[in-house]
Amino acid sequence: MSKFTIIIVGAGLGGLALAQALRRHGVAVSVYERDLALDSRRQGYRLHLDSVAWDALHQLLPPVLVDLLTATTGTPRPRFTLLDRDLNELFGQESAEPAFAVDRLTLRAILLTGIEDSVVFGTPVTGYHTAGDGRIAVHLSDGSTVHGDVLVGADGINSVVRQQYLPNARIVETGVWQIYGAIPLTDDTRKLFDDRMFGVFTMITGADGSFVGVAPVEFPENPAAAAARLTPGSMLASVSDYMTCSFGARSDWFGPAEQSLRHVDGDQLHDIIATAVLTWHPRVQEIIAHCDPMTLFALPLRSSVPIPAWNTTRVTLLGDAIHAMSPASGSGACTALRDAAGLASALTHAVDGDLHAALRDYEQHMVDYGFTAVRAGAANGERFLDQKPLPLQ
Ligand SMILES: Cc1cc2nc3c(=O)[nH]c(=O)nc-3n(C[C@H](O)[C@H](O)[C@H](O)COP(=O)(O)OP(=O)(O)OC[C@H]3O[C@@H](n4cnc5c(N)ncnc54)[C@H](O)[C@@H]3O)c2cc1C
Repeated sequence: MSKFTIIIVGAGLGGLALAQALRRHGVAVSVYERDLALDSRRQGYRLHLDSVAWDALHQLLPPVLVDLLTATTGTPRPRFTLLDRDLNELFGQESAEPAFAVDRLTLRAILLTGIEDSVVFGTPVTGYHTAGDGRIAVHLSDGSTVHGDVLVGADGINSVVRQQYLPNARIVETGVWQIYGAIPLTDDTRKLFDDRMFGVFTMITGADGSFVGVAPVEFPENPAAAAARLTPGSMLASVSDYMTCSFGARSDWFGPAEQSLRHVDGDQLHDIIATAVLTWHPRVQEIIAHCDPMTLFALPLRSSVPIPAWNTTRVTLLGDAIHAMSPASGSGACTALRDAAGLASALTHAVDGDLHAALRDYEQHMVDYGFTAVRAGAANGERFLDQKPLPLQ
C-alpha cells in the first residue's frame, strides 16, 4: 500500500472509475456514497461513450473488467441524424471515430466489481476541513469524521465539496427540460425504427423547438450472462436490448406544468409527450405510444459556468462536480472518465509522494479540456435544443 490515502465523495461513474485504478495500484482509497445502492435513484439509461472514454476505461480497469465491459457494450453506427417531425432528414453527420453505447447501471455495476469493500453506501458527506497536520478531515452525515491525504469531490452536479471549496463556481439552468424513458427492443418494436435510428443518436425536431431523441442499446451479451461467465458473484442485472426515448423542450413550452414536472408520475409524463407529437409523423406517435410510462422521469438540463484555474490544495474535483455540461454533446460521462484516468495516473505516479505537483498537473489539464467540453455542450445545446447561452462567468 502507498503512503497516502485518498477519500472520494460519490460512487458515480467518475468516483468508482478512479477508485478502481487506485486500488489496482495499491493506493488506499475509501468512497463515500449518499445513496443506499447503485439503483436507488433513476439517473438515465443509455450512455454514449466516445473513444477517449473507452481508452480511459481500458487504462483504469483490470483486464477481466475490460472483458466484461466489452461483452456488454453496444457499438452503434457513429452517426448523428436530425429529422423533422415528418421524418425527413435535415442533417446527418457520421464520425470517423467509433461510438460506444453502454447501459448506465451496468457500467456502474462493472465499476463497483471487486472494490465493494472500499465503498460505503448510504453515507452522505456534509463538508470537510483541513486538519492541523495538513490532512483533510471529511465530515459524514452520521456526525463522524474520516481523514485522508487527498479529498476528491466526485459528487456530481450538486457537489457539496465544490460548494464549500469553490463557492464562486456556478450551476445555471439551460432553460430546457428533458423527459427520459426507454422502449424494450422486441421483434415488433424494432420495426418502429428505421436504419438511421440505430445510429448513435437520432433527434426528431418539432416546429416549436420541442424534440424527440432515440438511441439504441444493443448488448453483445446479456450483462447477467457475461458476469456469470467472467466475474461470478458480481452484481450485474439481466437487461435486454432497448431504445432510449426522450422528449425535450424549453421551460416556456411546458407552461405552468413545468413547476410539477419533477413530481408527476410516468403516466402524466407520457400524456404530455403523446399530446406534443399528435401532429407528427404516425411512426413518431407509435414510438411514443410504445415508451413504457414506468420508465419516464423528467430533469431540467443544467450546466456549470467555466471559471479560471484555482490554487491547488489537497482537495480536488472531477466530473460533474466541476464541469457539469449540457447533454447536447453527450460527453459529461466521457469527460468524468477522462478525469478519473488523468487523476489516477497523476496520483499513482506521484514521485516521492509529491501529491501537490500531481494534483496541480491533473487540474491544469482538466480545467482546460473540461471547460472546453462545457462550452461545446452549450454551443450544441443552443443549436439543437434551443437552450439559453451560457452566461459570461
Ligand atoms: C439522462 C442523462 C443522459 C446522459 N447521457 C450522457 C451520455 O450519453 N454521454 C455522456 O458522456 N454523458 C451523459 N450524461 C451526463 C453524465 O451522466 C454525467 O456527466 C456523469 O454521470 C458524471 O459523472 P460523475 O461521476 O461526475 O457524477 P455522477 O454520475 O452524478 O455521480 C455523483 C455521485 O455522487 C453522489 N453524491 C452526491 N452528493 C453526495 C454527497 N454529499 N455525499 C456522498 N455522495 C454524494 C451521487 O449520489 C452520485 O452517485 C447524461 C446525463 C443524464 C442525466
